[in-house]
Amino acid sequence: MQLESRRYFFTMVCIERPYILLRRFEKRQAAGIAMSGKTALITGITGQDGSYLAELLLEKGYTVYGLVRRVSQPSLGRNLINHLMSNENFHLLNGDLADQNSIDNAVHQVKPDEFYNLGAMSFVPESWRSPMMTADITGLGALRCLEAVRKHAPDCRFYQAGSSEQYGKVREVPQSEQTPFHPRSPYGCAKVMAFEITRNYRESYNMFACTGILFNHESPRRGLEFVTRKVTMMAARIKHGFDECLHIGNVDAKRDWGFAGDYVEMQWKMLQQDEPDDYVIATGRTHSIRDMISLAFSHIGLDLTWSGEGVDTIATDQNEVVRVRTNPKFFRPAEVDLLIGDPAYAKEKLGWETKTTFEQLIQMMVESDLAIVQEAVDGGYAPPTPPE
Ligand code: GDP
Repeated sequence: MQLESRRYFFTMVCIERPYILLRRFEKRQAAGIAMSGKTALITGITGQDGSYLAELLLEKGYTVYGLVRRVSQPSLGRNLINHLMSNENFHLLNGDLADQNSIDNAVHQVKPDEFYNLGAMSFVPESWRSPMMTADITGLGALRCLEAVRKHAPDCRFYQAGSSEQYGKVREVPQSEQTPFHPRSPYGCAKVMAFEITRNYRESYNMFACTGILFNHESPRRGLEFVTRKVTMMAARIKHGFDECLHIGNVDAKRDWGFAGDYVEMQWKMLQQDEPDDYVIATGRTHSIRDMISLAFSHIGLDLTWSGEGVDTIATDQNEVVRVRTNPKFFRPAEVDLLIGDPAYAKEKLGWETKTTFEQLIQMMVESDLAIVQEAVDGGYAPPTPPE
């Protein structure tokens, strides 16, 4: 009897149990893929938001597909996602927001649970130089994505990246989901089109389609052409002696700046709700470009004093060295003067709260750019320069 029970114990513990555990593990894995392991397709994956969102979704157990334009040298322009390339749940597909077939094929192949359209021609000044391309990629691109989802994965939940630029010449302060749009650039117009067609597909085809009207969101991954990153990179270059002075446009414009890493979580949350809807994501606080520059420069030990007005505005440091000059070429044909979002609805529905303050954000960006410039100095190569 004792021998029997010992045999039973041996069989159960040494042979059966590991096998049962292995089966359970496999089952859990399989169940995991069916439950939390959803599949997401992201356009604009190589950009700031795309890379943060991909990281977030991979952490949550998603399989992530990114749509990228076919280029002959894929290593170029993909540095924000290089660290994800070895992840077995991360894949890239060739596709272009200008090409309906390529989006159709991607959606047909992947059959995503969630589609995030983050791709756009997103630099406002460029939209005056290339208005047709902006309308095509930023506006019609959203429609092409919606069409692909409608035809090939109608149950897929769809997120459209909206923008505070839709408000433009603001009709009220702060701006909420109810504020009428008055875009002030071809980019803003294209984003309004994308917003309206997303709402229309929701109402026409009962699709789970949402737009996040995100106010400016920045990070160390922001492109060097945007004002925050231009300023923090120039501060780092000035600190290391590569430049003496920052040349800038309208310092009186105001923006509601948040941290992109916080904002992508809200993009995901919008698609986890019971009903589709549109949400403003903002901090509810606004700062001028002038204040942002002063803050960034204080982190490199320069205390700025401002003088002059308009294109004659300058800022000098505590040693009377001119550190900021205004250049009319950075002014825009039409300006969005005061953007400040009202995130009350997102607070109520999504539990949104600002995690990273403006001060922390600018500090994070200056520190990151100081490290990038230091690395270039140590490596003996030229540090990045913001485009003219
Ligand atoms: P946007 O809100 O998407 O246009 O983000 P940007 O970072 O490009 O611009 C924010 C604001 O900064 C706008 O009101 C610009 O007019 C203002 N600005 C002032 N100087 C500059 C500059 O040198 N570069 C950029 N990009 N913006 C500037």
